[in-house]
Amino acid sequence: MTEPPPPTDTHCPYCALQCGMCLRRVAAAGPDAPGVAVEERPGFPVNLGALCGKGSNAADTLAGSVRLTTPLVRDRRTDPLRPATWEEALDRAARGLAQAARRHGREAAGVFGGGGLTNEKAYLLGKFARVVLRTPHIDYNGRFCMSSAAAAQRAAFGVDRGLPFPLADVARTGCLVLVGANPADTMPPALRHLRELREAGGTLIVVDPRRTRTAELADLHLRPAPGTDLALALGLLHLVIARGRVDEDFVARRTTGFAHARAAAMAHWPERVEALTGIPVGQMRRAVDLFCDAPTAMVLTARGGEQHSKGVDTVGAWINLCLATGRAGRPGSGYGCLTGQGNGQGGREHGQKADQLPGYRSLTDPAARAHVAAVWGVDPADLPGPGRSAYELLAGLGTPGGVRALLLMGSNPVVSAPDAPRITERLRALDHLVVCDVVRSETAELADVVLPSAQWAEETGTMTNLEGRVVLRRAAVPPPAGVRTDLDALHGLAARLGHPDGFPTTAREVFAELRRASAGGAADYAGITYERIEQEDGVFWPCPGEDHPGTPRLFLDRFATPDGRARFADVSHRPAAEEPDDAYPLLLTTGRVLAQYQSGAQTRRSPALNRAAPGPFVELHPRLAARLGVTDGDRLTVTSRRGTATAPARVTDAIRPDTVFMPFHWSGEGSANNLTNPALDPVSHMPEFKVCAVRVTKADTA
Ligand code: SF4
Repeated sequence: MTEPPPPTDTHCPYCALQCGMCLRRVAAAGPDAPGVAVEERPGFPVNLGALCGKGSNAADTLAGSVRLTTPLVRDRRTDPLRPATWEEALDRAARGLAQAARRHGREAAGVFGGGGLTNEKAYLLGKFARVVLRTPHIDYNGRFCMSSAAAAQRAAFGVDRGLPFPLADVARTGCLVLVGANPADTMPPALRHLRELREAGGTLIVVDPRRTRTAELADLHLRPAPGTDLALALGLLHLVIARGRVDEDFVARRTTGFAHARAAAMAHWPERVEALTGIPVGQMRRAVDLFCDAPTAMVLTARGGEQHSKGVDTVGAWINLCLATGRAGRPGSGYGCLTGQGNGQGGREHGQKADQLPGYRSLTDPAARAHVAAVWGVDPADLPGPGRSAYELLAGLGTPGGVRALLLMGSNPVVSAPDAPRITERLRALDHLVVCDVVRSETAELADVVLPSAQWAEETGTMTNLEGRVVLRRAAVPPPAGVRTDLDALHGLAARLGHPDGFPTTAREVFAELRRASAGGAADYAGITYERIEQEDGVFWPCPGEDHPGTPRLFLDRFATPDGRARFADVSHRPAAEEPDDAYPLLLTTGRVLAQYQSGAQTRRSPALNRAAPGPFVELHPRLAARLGVTDGDRLTVTSRRGTATAPARVTDAIRPDTVFMPFHWSGEGSANNLTNPALDPVSHMPEFKVCAVRVTKADTA
């Protein structure tokens, strides 16, 4: 009798925690059932074996019944998709991309990537756009994730890494402020660090309009009106200054620009901030006492604080608070961002972003262009410049001067983009759409060519988690017949478009090239090897050489700015792009639920997760419900200036009376993104997912 193979150590396919897990081969329960079972991996330091329901049920994504197992093509726009061979599908995909460029110029071809792609895929996709298509237009859905935090970090510290310290440092801080973050639902294993913080006597402040499960754990819950976090951060800094709690020595030694930040904060006196945010002055004073009295303190933001048309300024204001109180660049203190998608971090480091080359290099820096061009064997002058950001790229699809043929990999903008009906219309207007995905997503349904992708448990590749820790996902099972890796697909497309070389099909080969391309950049992977990752349970970048230990904590001696000092942001409050009025008197905010993930393309196909969270809902306060004559379960229509969404009511005092909440994991009539406002932050180009004006009616009276 042959021994069963040992379990494979790997990582969850979902969020930015990248929890370690083991996959054990099992006899499949049926022809379509997954041949692996998820088990604990207690030795991985980030989650110590703990998994949330999404991770525990991750094997469901491997079932043959829920996924694509053959390429699909459409003969005419009005025809249904039909099965095709890989040869036919790749031929058609390449022909469509080439044709758009021939007819309308190189910029008519575009690429849209995903924050769940491995570093190797993200890197090769960026190279494909810039070397094969020679288009500037590549961006990815990570732009909708933490781009505002990234831009604010870069401005303040000179480099952006979700957390500039290991997640375990959270347990060692004296006061943790979570801004628009709900890890109890989004990344439950992280709560272990919160529990340790509380056991060690630390305090937790949660800033969130909703009383989330995370807020229920807090010593102090501040509930600002959606869109007013920036005013709150300014008001808290005002109190810090007024009460003489500025760390003058730290400010003098390690920062620049405090005079402007001080002046802006002094214009946001507590009563003014109370009027803007709805938070009583007494609660603000208590927050400042908890924050300043603690020996160490941290602020962590997530999408609630970032997905705004002033997201960069909002994060900048929270960083200002950390800098003024000396809570940065010291163990146990600092600012960080709880990134969302599995590889939102690595996905932007290596070339999917419209303005960056691998290693966090700027596309407009001649030295950076020369370095990457040398690795790619092309003339730097042939590399295109920066392209359009994610929403701008999508909103321009099929328009004169816009992208006419799009290669889309690992993203589902029909569900996840703001003002989703408009983006769906734009996708339909394309001359040619190629989608690489694991499942037949809502976006794949619109494609001319669909290429079925191998997924997390079927292929090897690296991911970079929210700590900047590069981890290795290992293949545990082969992909089903008919499915190929995205690296294979890119190789096939590149070859058909005149580049038979330079697009390797093994992740190890791609990673070796990525290391060279990133060498010397801010996100330097030169010293990271698969062998080291395996031995060390992940390696933190920057890691410039194989004898370098990696860098778990950034900024301890200096910040990554030219003079080594952190820079205060010069920011003032401004209202949300859309405020309530007579026609749309309420605020809408959106977010996630425990059992679903992002656009739901994977988790909605898991029977267990679907039972736990079967559909959308509208959360509203009992006072608002009474005013509208609504009881729990009534169907409501929510209307914004862009569209409508219909879903059952969930009446709860966990939400403010002036605000309604909808999760965004579903498509169709219950899609929260039918409503959301695509107003963009002027720096990060992040859409304002987190606040817009709406009215609510019972569905039968809408
Ligand atoms: Fe997966 Fe995130 Fe859940 Fe961990 S917290 S198991 S990485 S979804």
